[in-house]
Amino acid sequence: PSRERLIVVSNRLPFVLKRDDLTGKLIRKSSAGGLVTAVAPVVVDCGGRWVGWTGDCSLTVDDEIPEASEEDTTPTAGLLKHQVVPVYLNQQQFDSYYNGCCNGTLWPLFHSMSDRAVYSSEYWQDYIQVNQLFADKTLEAIEFSKMDGPDIVPLIWIHDYHLTLMPSILRQALNEKNSNALLGFFLHIPFPPWDIFRLLPWDDEILLGLLGCDMIGFHIEDYCINFLDCCHRRLGCRIDRKNLLVEYGNRIVKIAALPIGIPFDRFQRMAEEAPRLVKEKRQKIILGVDRLDYTKGLVHRLKAFERFLEKHPEHIEEVIFIQIAVPSRTDVKEYQELKEEMDQVIGRINGRFSTANWSPIRYIYGCVSQAELAAYYRDAFIAMVTPLRDGMNLVAKEFVACQIEEPGVLILSPFAGAGETMQEALLINPYKIDDVAELICSALEMSRDEREVRMKNLRRREKVNNVDAWAQAFLKAIRSTTSMNPESD
Ligand code: UDP
Repeated sequence: PSRERLIVVSNRLPFVLKRDDLTGKLIRKSSAGGLVTAVAPVVVDCGGRWVGWTGDCSLTVDDEIPEASEEDTTPTAGLLKHQVVPVYLNQQQFDSYYNGCCNGTLWPLFHSMSDRAVYSSEYWQDYIQVNQLFADKTLEAIEFSKMDGPDIVPLIWIHDYHLTLMPSILRQALNEKNSNALLGFFLHIPFPPWDIFRLLPWDDEILLGLLGCDMIGFHIEDYCINFLDCCHRRLGCRIDRKNLLVEYGNRIVKIAALPIGIPFDRFQRMAEEAPRLVKEKRQKIILGVDRLDYTKGLVHRLKAFERFLEKHPEHIEEVIFIQIAVPSRTDVKEYQELKEEMDQVIGRINGRFSTANWSPIRYIYGCVSQAELAAYYRDAFIAMVTPLRDGMNLVAKEFVACQIEEPGVLILSPFAGAGETMQEALLINPYKIDDVAELICSALEMSRDEREVRMKNLRRREKVNNVDAWAQAFLKAIRSTTSMNPESD
């Protein structure tokens, strides 16, 4: 439909802004995420808009967003200045809305780690205020796109837990103006079961916020069912579990399970082109790649590896464990404590098992480019993706996309969304330290035939269900809701 205008709203804009040292002017730096790669071209093609925070609290309305530079060939380069709608946050808002409410309250709670969640009404007030700010900017963007003609239908696609209140704020404002738009939301993290979700002092507000949508997408069906359950038990909504529908007021909201994918071909290409990074040919690489986050099960994984070395000394000097951990949310106390614990556990294991020419763990604390990651993914014999809880986990998918040589083995937690579909992986509960240790051993000893069959199937599925397919599936699903609530907007 050519008269559709896609307006994407996410916490951050799809590129990073940096100040040029020489000219003092702002320049765009690309961010290579799969979501941006898949969605930006759609926004560019339909002349849509992208609403998001600039990523820098020192910026104000006086700082104009630059056009992309001539050399920029990334998918966001086609986004013209007027298509980028910046949201400016000051330091206090950032600390309270982002570090406080988003990452101190909603992140742990939605990952079912309720004991880590803090409940602060100050944070919550700022969360409301920032959601209002995003809604105001989005309304402006809707008004602008409507200037292209009376038959324009804005399609608003809101992303993630930072913006759960926005849909109903937008819905109300649009209703007051008698203006129509399709509103869709995708949650990139899990949606918890009712007995966890109800701990949140503002549980009803989040549900009501989301129910402003025409459609809400989650990664897997379990999260959809949790959401339906919460709407039913907290708000008394009528729900249809089979067709995944919630009735609220006089509207029906469609719920859909849409597991996100990765840019498969891009990863495969990077794996083909990447030089060999680890020189030791004799040693088998066991790989972990994660943001340094307590949901990723890093300490459990290291302890399982330690147990493996203890129980299977025959593998000493035969394997190396490479753990890449990206610094994340370093202002938040929980994350600082995790960093310290990692340093300590890794020090202990290396101290305990190292020999003159070998140390069991190589620990990279820093962000590695995806081109370089592709080399690690390709050369790893085992990838350990063992989060305690994870919405999807893209690392598991990127690993299989890069496995173009000797087939390796994916060890995967069933508590990641990816565990739902990647059935040929070795699935294991990450809390079972002894069993994980034994599984590492079985993976090392698995026959080539079995590794090949498993990897082939894993790769085939991810190649088809890539991130473009995901974005198209989302858009198709939300367009199909127009027949459900014909006069609601
Ligand atoms: N990543 C990266 N550099 C690193 C480590 C990770 O670019 O050093 C990327 C990785 O390629 C993946 C993303 O970070 O696309 C992590 O996504 P995932 O879903 O696994 O976890 P999240 O961090 O979103 O919780």
